Amino acid sequence: MRDDSVRAGRSAITARRPALGTAKSAEIFTRIITHGPVSRLDIGRMTGLSQAKVTKTVSPLIESGYVQVGEHAEHSVPGRPVRPLSAVPSSMIAIGVKVNEGELFAVSVDLRNDVLGSTHRVLASHDPESVTDAIVASVDALIAQLGADAANLVGVGVSVSGDIDTSTGTVRHSPLLDWSQVPLGDRLESLLGLPVTVENDVRALAKAEHWFGVGRDATSFAIVTIGAGIGCGIYVNGDVVTGSHGVAGEIGHLPLASSDAICVCGRRGCVEAVASSHAILEAVRRGHGDSGLEMTDAIRLAHEGDPSAVEAFERAGTAVGDALAATVNLFGPEVVLIAGEGVMDYDLYERRFREEFQAHAFGAAANCRLVVRRHTFYDWARGAAVAMLREAIANSPLDRADVDT
Ligand SMILES: [Zn+2]
Repeated sequence: MRDDSVRAGRSAITARRPALGTAKSAEIFTRIITHGPVSRLDIGRMTGLSQAKVTKTVSPLIESGYVQVGEHAEHSVPGRPVRPLSAVPSSMIAIGVKVNEGELFAVSVDLRNDVLGSTHRVLASHDPESVTDAIVASVDALIAQLGADAANLVGVGVSVSGDIDTSTGTVRHSPLLDWSQVPLGDRLESLLGLPVTVENDVRALAKAEHWFGVGRDATSFAIVTIGAGIGCGIYVNGDVVTGSHGVAGEIGHLPLASSDAICVCGRRGCVEAVASSHAILEAVRRGHGDSGLEMTDAIRLAHEGDPSAVEAFERAGTAVGDALAATVNLFGPEVVLIAGEGVMDYDLYERRFREEFQAHAFGAAANCRLVVRRHTFYDWARGAAVAMLREAIANSPLDRADVDT
């Protein structure tokens, strides 16, 4: 009964989007989302557009409930009240799903990237059909949590590690899930009846950081993720780099590790083959001849000075430091955010990668700020949701007449 009512709720969702008309209008709305409350004057400065253009774009967005005018007037220019603009948070809601090898994390977020609801599901299997069913069940659970706000749902973003063709929603190759050529986006759209975007997980995270995090005011940045895999999202020249062939920032597969260990991609010498959490744990297990050791044991042993554990973390840190240096030497970002599920616990690893980075970053590229921040799998899911919000705004209707129809 409950399933039927949820499906009925889903079919009533029209995935409404604001009518923005042009790329410039989308840029104005985006600035209001990312920098609000913000004055028309400041939006004009940020976008290089006249205040008249800003006012013309914003008026229909206010009328249709996407933008609100601040209650309290500020006076940035004497005698001229400024009423700042901000996005109406719940006017656009997206669901984001992060697919891991054995579990799913899903959230619904609003235009402030605030989490409205969340759910977690253990996967019995990671074959495409089971995962698709689990995503549908998670989306239904979140729609039920949203209640009446579900009417403002713009779609579902899904993030998966690997080589993803975002334009078709196809997972071309995901070593972690052992998937090849899975048309995940199409399957989900037909099952859900909602727009679906499929994105590489690290790139989705970079999109969220660009709008709401470290990249909000940076001209260029990289986000490096450390955990089950080593990934890198790159933002430069006003956009998150996708790569001509859909692959970019795969620093986990730079051949910088002096090891014979075989990577999940099948090659030898990859950074990930020594620096992923799995690779570190395996090295410590081998060193102790104990396949039952857990990551918490490996961290404890390293803290106690156990030689094989110290070596495993230091080797991993060295490989990541080399990969970070290669990254900044290639494109010189303002800041590199290092995020990961456990990276804050790896103090040996962090010290080593900072030393290695300093040793190999060339000239002024070494001035790049390295920020280390813990994040959770729900943050990955938020990245997927933000990728969907961005897609909804980039592909908004061209005619004002489409508003609210
Ligand atoms: Zn590899």
